[in-house]
Amino acid sequence: MQDCETKTSWTQFLEFVQTRCSSAEYENWLAPIRLVQSTPDETVLEVPNIFVQEYLLDNFKEILADFLPTRNSGEAAITFVIASAQKKVETAAPVIEISEPESSVFEVKLNQHYTFDNFIEGPSNQFVKSAAVGVASRPGKTYNPLFIHGGVGLGKTHLLHGIGHYIREHNRKVKIQAITTEAFINDIVDNLRNKSIDKMKRYYRNLDVLLVDDIQFLQNRLNFEEEFCNTFETLINQNKQIVITSDKPPSQLKLSERMIARMEWGLVAHMGIPDLETRVAIIKHKSEGRGLNIPSQIAFFIAEHIYNNVRQLEGAINRLCAHSRLLATELSQDIVERILSEMFQSSAPQRKISVEGILKSVAAVFEVRVSELKGESRLKEIALARQVAMYLAKEMIDDSLMKIAVSFGGKTHSTLLHAWKKISDQIQINEMLRRQVQMVRRNIES
Ligand code: ADP
Ligand code: MG
Repeated sequence: MQDCETKTSWTQFLEFVQTRCSSAEYENWLAPIRLVQSTPDETVLEVPNIFVQEYLLDNFKEILADFLPTRNSGEAAITFVIASAQKKVETAAPVIEISEPESSVFEVKLNQHYTFDNFIEGPSNQFVKSAAVGVASRPGKTYNPLFIHGGVGLGKTHLLHGIGHYIREHNRKVKIQAITTEAFINDIVDNLRNKSIDKMKRYYRNLDVLLVDDIQFLQNRLNFEEEFCNTFETLINQNKQIVITSDKPPSQLKLSERMIARMEWGLVAHMGIPDLETRVAIIKHKSEGRGLNIPSQIAFFIAEHIYNNVRQLEGAINRLCAHSRLLATELSQDIVERILSEMFQSSAPQRKISVEGILKSVAAVFEVRVSELKGESRLKEIALARQVAMYLAKEMIDDSLMKIAVSFGGKTHSTLLHAWKKISDQIQINEMLRRQVQMVRRNIES
């Protein structure tokens, strides 16, 4: 009888939250939870992994207490059991046998344009290019790992895939995988959900070469960092090649000391901003590839005005291509200046990010008012948005915590620190929140 009643309340809870989250979120995080047992004193839930448990508690603590039996503290009295590893192996084992990829069917997703041949060398990238060629020629035998860091749009992904292409061409049997850190994390989440995590681990740990793009996305994602680190160590210990790219050197990444130390084991190479001549050579190479003839003088003119991002140089060429088709005249400096003026970089310092700017962006994404963010309201939506703003202020503004706190209408710096900690933790497990925070961050940076 009791059992039946509580079962209904769990079901009621599910029905209630179903209306409050997206169907994807529900399917991913709530549907996999199984009610194991219930008494008037407690509810026992089986979760496929710790992430699901944390997700449930972080997002629905209060609602759970409304529906399920509670403890004296007022919290829902839930005992979690993690679906046993035993079971996972049982269900996963037969599948592995059949579907573990053979080396010949290894599918690597490499951008076909990102080859060594298409990579223009100059003083700023010669060193890192030759390290890449070294690694590609003798995977696992020279620098391991090779860690490539540098600013946005400077060719890190290009070189990473270049290594992949070169190895593929010279030895098709080598098991190689190129992934972004985001994709790696998504892979873990998917496989945890499908109870195929052991299979995934085996897949990655069985590779000969692992190319990992944008490791900075592993920051603040503790649980995933550990899994990555384990994969990393397994591969390195077998002399399997690892190449990593990042927007910062290892020491500046907010990762565990263990992880940072591992990444510094091999060679850390910096990808610099190409100098004027190299930029001109890149413009020439890319425009010829697209059938556009840009006179040297014009190429210099463009290279002088777009100087710290090769991707933007490409954007400029794309624009010129589009226009030259319409214009049917020679490109002159005047025309180029008119077409590209808004892309030209001024040497003015970067706009400073302000608390006001952050508040505005947070208010827009979370659909609250700036005044509410600065106020005292404890309404759940407002409080959360306020904490996100505090988190971003601490992350993005290079100023003392005290000063930042004052800009939030006189909050204390411990409130700010508390908010920062809470949001840092939450974005590791709450996918929706993480996306929202990312969206705000992009708005602020753009
Ligand atoms: P990152 O990963 O560092 O942000 P990408 O590798 O995505 O940058 O490079 C951005 C674009 O610029 C790509 O289309 C790439 O082909 C091009 N690019 C960057 N550096 C070079 C280079 N040295 N030679 C040729 N193309 C380059
Ligand atoms: Mg990249």
